[in-house]
Amino acid sequence: MKLFRKTVIRAGLEALYFSGAHVLLRPIFSGVGAVFMLHHVRPGRTGDFQPNRHLEVTPDFLRATLSHLKSRDIDIVTMDEVHHRLANRQFERRFACFTFDDGYRDNRDHALPVMREYAAPLTVFVTSDFAEGTGRLWWLALEQVIAKASSVETMIGGDPVRLDASSASAKQAAFDRLHDWMRTLQEHDLQREMAALCARHGVDQAAICRDLCMPWDELKSFAGDPLVAIGAHTVSHCNLARQREEAAREELVLGRARIEDKLQRPVLHLVYPYGDRSAAGPREFALARAAGYRTALTTRPGMLFGESAGHLTALPRVSLNGNYQDERVLPVLTSGAATAMWNGFRRVDAA
Ligand SMILES: [Zn+2]
Repeated sequence: MKLFRKTVIRAGLEALYFSGAHVLLRPIFSGVGAVFMLHHVRPGRTGDFQPNRHLEVTPDFLRATLSHLKSRDIDIVTMDEVHHRLANRQFERRFACFTFDDGYRDNRDHALPVMREYAAPLTVFVTSDFAEGTGRLWWLALEQVIAKASSVETMIGGDPVRLDASSASAKQAAFDRLHDWMRTLQEHDLQREMAALCARHGVDQAAICRDLCMPWDELKSFAGDPLVAIGAHTVSHCNLARQREEAAREELVLGRARIEDKLQRPVLHLVYPYGDRSAAGPREFALARAAGYRTALTTRPGMLFGESAGHLTALPRVSLNGNYQDERVLPVLTSGAATAMWNGFRRVDAA
């Protein structure tokens, strides 16, 4: 995320908190429920260069969030139940669902014990290549490349570029530049560029995958926990909107089939990789529906409303962002005011 966007969000959250405006906005924008989006849950790390920190929260912050929801008498439910309540318009009680993307082992080791304290279910969305141990978590590989390097050289748009990486702030700037550029590349170009950088800087992408992600046998026992449900997150974690239609369909159909085969349980819910407007739009929403998913989740920010029942494969989420692990933002997040502000006060955004 760009510094500008971060600053605007932080200023917005603080303005909402300190003005008390979120309390006034609550009846209009709080919706009927929310799906929370998380990635890693683990104790905080030291070090100034943590460009992927927005993707991790501590067990304590997860606990504070659950405690806040319980204090508001909000039901914590599964995605099946989210689907059920939306489809049957059961909105007497507000509800929240916890979703974890990618299939990280820390979800089992650090999130599940906290969820258990509240008897709260969770859904983990598995990228099947990550469970195979062959996936490429390029944003983490890029972090490792830059962490090790004092400078990084590459070609951007045919021009040689040399980026300083000799201090924490220079590393952050180099990461932002390369990350934003890589997000614009076609999948095979992205993988080629990352493979070249990793080879030059001695970073092993397969090792990152195996270190962080649960393989099938671990997933199988994890999925046996009564609080755990498993959803799909494609085969390769590619940007679906950049794929040809047939390839995108395969990612959705095969990703699901592989999990069902390995874990021997039905997979009914999907998360789109990246999940923003550049990665999931009307074509992907239709493909997910055709592939038989009951719901599919984006990373578009927002609460759920009754109208969301008409857009079950384009549902928004509320990010529990590692850069804002401050308990004072929790009432703001659950009020819906923060995501409403972000959306320009539209309630449903599924175009
Ligand atoms: Zn993901």
